[in-house]
Amino acid sequence: MGKVALVTGATRGIGKQIAITLAKEGYDIALNYRTDNDELKNTINEIEGYCVKVLPVQGDVSNYDDCERFVKEIIDEFGQIDVLVNNAGITKDMLLMRMKKEDFEQVIDVNLVGTFNVTKNVINYMLKARTGRIINISSVVGVSGNAGQTNYSASKAGIIGFSKSLAKEVASRNINVNCIAPGFIQTDMTAVLKDEVKEEIAKNIPLKRMGEAQDVANVVKFLASSDSSYITGQVIHVDGGMLM
Ligand code: NAP
Repeated sequence: MGKVALVTGATRGIGKQIAITLAKEGYDIALNYRTDNDELKNTINEIEGYCVKVLPVQGDVSNYDDCERFVKEIIDEFGQIDVLVNNAGITKDMLLMRMKKEDFEQVIDVNLVGTFNVTKNVINYMLKARTGRIINISSVVGVSGNAGQTNYSASKAGIIGFSKSLAKEVASRNINVNCIAPGFIQTDMTAVLKDEVKEEIAKNIPLKRMGEAQDVANVVKFLASSDSSYITGQVIHVDGGMLM
């Protein structure tokens, strides 16, 4: 039987590229999406082009009941989840002095609580199978901090602590848990930045460019593969050398 990967927030950006990259590797894909739109249909079509099965599962990762339901849908269809990629994430940037409580809470709820909600519902199946890979998408700012991103940085730092603790809990069952900390990657999330800001950011990146979603997806492919079987509890930076 083939392997199954669940990718959250997989209709666009980094999540979409991760889903396509794993499909190319032969994984059947459980594709979590929040919003039903043309981007979802395009992503499904692209994945099906690699002759693997794709199961779209709707759900807001910040809603525990949604996660419980869609993980069950995946198990009913595929019977297993070998790789979980917690990718869904949002930003609501603002200096703390002007940040609304709801904007702090919403970012924590989607990015950090969402990672808990999905992982909590998947982990029992991996424990029973005595194998699994969990790959959590953190961020460079979860390690370095960033002005205007107290909510986002806290959520991404939380994901790192969550991942290291879980890695220790489940290592004896052959389940590896790692984080990827991307730097500035060209997606809708960073498209909101002005061109001058992007140029300034690129100037300060040692490799002198923003990253692409594929740069992150390549590392997911490695962490999902047997080539990374002796790596757990780590944070792999994919940031062109921003943080050394
Ligand atoms: P993006 O282009 O904004 O895409 C985010 C994806 O997450 C969308 O598919 C979105 O679905 C989904 N999503 C958002 N909230 C959700 C929820 N509550 N439940 C389910 N899905 C939800 O972002 P991206 O740049 O690809 O970022 C992907 C991940 O990488 C995020 O965790 C982000 O924090 C992290 N990251 C990105 C960068 C960067 O520079 N781009 C850097 C470091 C880390 P909808 O279409 O429904 O909104």
